[in-house]
Amino acid sequence: MEKNIELKMIDKKQVPDTEPDRQYYYMEIAKEYIRQLSELKGEPLTFHVSTFGCQMNARDSEKLVGILEQIGYVEKDTEDADFVIYNTCTVRENANNKVYGRLGYLNGFQKKNPFMMIGLCGCMMQEPVVVEKIKQSYRFVNLIFGTHNIYKFAELITTAIESSFTGNSHKKGSSMTIDIWKDTDKIVEDLPIERKYTFKSGVNIMFGCNNFCSYCIVPYVRGRERSREAKDIVREIEKLAADGVVEVMLLGQNVNSYGKNLEPQISFAQLLQEVEKIEGIERIRFMTSHPKDLSDELIDVMKHSKKICKHLHLPLQSGSSRILKIMNRRYTKEQYLELVDKIREAVPDISLTTDIIVGFPGETEEDFEETMDVVRKVGYDSAFTFIYSKRTGTPAAAMEDQVPEDVIKQRFDRLLKEVQTIAARKAEVYTGTTQKVLVETVNEQDEHLVTGRLSNNSVVHLPGNADMIGKIVDVRLNECKGFYYIGEKVS
Ligand code: SF4
Repeated sequence: MEKNIELKMIDKKQVPDTEPDRQYYYMEIAKEYIRQLSELKGEPLTFHVSTFGCQMNARDSEKLVGILEQIGYVEKDTEDADFVIYNTCTVRENANNKVYGRLGYLNGFQKKNPFMMIGLCGCMMQEPVVVEKIKQSYRFVNLIFGTHNIYKFAELITTAIESSFTGNSHKKGSSMTIDIWKDTDKIVEDLPIERKYTFKSGVNIMFGCNNFCSYCIVPYVRGRERSREAKDIVREIEKLAADGVVEVMLLGQNVNSYGKNLEPQISFAQLLQEVEKIEGIERIRFMTSHPKDLSDELIDVMKHSKKICKHLHLPLQSGSSRILKIMNRRYTKEQYLELVDKIREAVPDISLTTDIIVGFPGETEEDFEETMDVVRKVGYDSAFTFIYSKRTGTPAAAMEDQVPEDVIKQRFDRLLKEVQTIAARKAEVYTGTTQKVLVETVNEQDEHLVTGRLSNNSVVHLPGNADMIGKIVDVRLNECKGFYYIGEKVS
């Protein structure tokens, strides 16, 4: 539909050169535009952010929400909003198709609402073929940007508003704002963030990845590793603690290589010790840990910490040293098992979880049995099991010897069964014990129950009410239901 809404372009006299001042300047301009648009519409403009993929994307979405609220949009649960943005993931190829499908659906809303803008960001936008396809086939999209310049969102949305609603460029299909960077070494601090939870928060400690596992697209779409300064991280967490946050999740593609590009260098273990000192923070989690970089220093810090949760996610991917080599994981089956022994010796009650890919190109029955062997030896508390999916743009996609689908499916089922049996047995051990639980939500199915997590990340449901949210309470685990517990608060 032709947009017939006309705003007058605001003069930008002294745009600051430095960040984050520049973005705050643009937030003021965008705010004025949104005020005028709301006036024209006769009601506040709404937004909806849809997030696909991992914790990093979830955290990025909180940054988008922070800015959208700052400039005057009001959040809405559904996609019939005035600004809808998809924060995309491209780890699995079929995720891309899902986004294309949903764009058609959004276009239906846009046809009925001349105030509506559509934005796309995240990993998928770092792929030139995707952007080309959107330019060709989805001309109604108003704004596209990638992972490296998300900090510029205020500036980008201002440009998108101007090209959609000012001057003569407001015809459908003529107003696409695109800004994609190949890489960056820039980290901008102190922009607004709207947290999803009041009591817990993710905290980015680094961005990007240097590892180039042969099946993974992340290094291509998130760029090289860059760490935030420890003082900025500590300052952010201190502020979060002052604001009532009790649990932080330190986020990075490979947290164990945190600090390598900083001057002076600081290790992840040292950073954890700094975070441990912050008053008010009671629980510290982190992800993801690459086994090849997990140091003895880190194990020692975990052993002596009072706040680091008893949970470590340690992606295995395959138990076969031969496949691990082709995956470019840079550890062997034996090294992985040794590492697990060391961790368990230092922190006996730690819960270990993992990621496993089944059917990587060239995986034989023997290779798969090696994976099963590690699963039995480690005894994971839970595991995310994935069927290998060919990801265009990665070295593995070009490998010959792709495993037939029926073989993969059969191996996957065997693995899943083994993982579930072991996990259920491990969970049973805690039945009857009393544990500290951070209450997170009122249970969706039963409003008389609340749901929380143990330090080891297991889920517990117990009688309670909304007043308990964000509190750490002692809970007796009465019954184990395999993947979760039913408990009751003990005073
Ligand atoms: S460590 Fe490997 S799997 Fe993880 S993000 Fe980096 S390349 Fe991908």
